[in-house]
Amino acid sequence: MRKPSSPKQPEDRYARQWQLPELGAEGHRRIRERGVVIVGCGALGSNSADLLVRSGIGRLTLVDADRLTENNLQRVAVYREEDTARPKAEALAEALRAINRDVEIRAVIDRIRESNARRLVLEGDILIDGLDNYASRYVVNGACVATGIPWVFGAVAGTFGMTMLIAPGTSACLHCLFPEPPDREHVLTAGNSGLIAPIPRIIAALQVATALRWITAPDSCQAGMLRFIDCWTASLSEQRVTRNLDCPTCKSF
Ligand SMILES: [Zn+2]
Repeated sequence: MRKPSSPKQPEDRYARQWQLPELGAEGHRRIRERGVVIVGCGALGSNSADLLVRSGIGRLTLVDADRLTENNLQRVAVYREEDTARPKAEALAEALRAINRDVEIRAVIDRIRESNARRLVLEGDILIDGLDNYASRYVVNGACVATGIPWVFGAVAGTFGMTMLIAPGTSACLHCLFPEPPDREHVLTAGNSGLIAPIPRIIAALQVATALRWITAPDSCQAGMLRFIDCWTASLSEQRVTRNLDCPTCKSF
């Protein structure tokens, strides 16, 4: 039996990724050279971070101001019981470094806001949404549109989730999709409707697949296509979101 591969033998570690015709050696090289910013390190963000680190992404910035609670453990990835009460970004970064020491990981224990958003989104080549509220998503959307950084919207509640790649200057943005911020009282969230553990994993997996495809073959990506999945009924649907030429956020870009 062969010895297990080690991080010092990347040719073995990533062999299955290199084998993929969609990636190959060139795709793998791009993944190793690119950075991703994940905003929100809960159910969606921790699952995305796990997949990106195992895929050998070059750099990862993790942004979250909150601490891990025991309640979070039902639906997150990577975290352990002993991480309870620690800042999520810090505990996640530490655990991810033990999974792949070659990835440059920066933990930012802070909320994304207008004053820091552009600087943070520019730390990566693409951003993945792990947020749980639309107010912060609008901040991310504004910063990404202004800087030209693509981002992968994702949201989950109950047994259901949705995701869409937003490519500034090309596709509809979040403000085109929701001209008014969805009313907090009427938005389904994990807090008001519960959450089954598989759905954030499915949506995060799609977000990461989208990010890897953007990194390796951006021209092949379908930006502005909103995809819905209900994991309880295993049903999928999609809808093209039209760009609003009067959108207050993206009309000038
Ligand atoms: Zn727009």
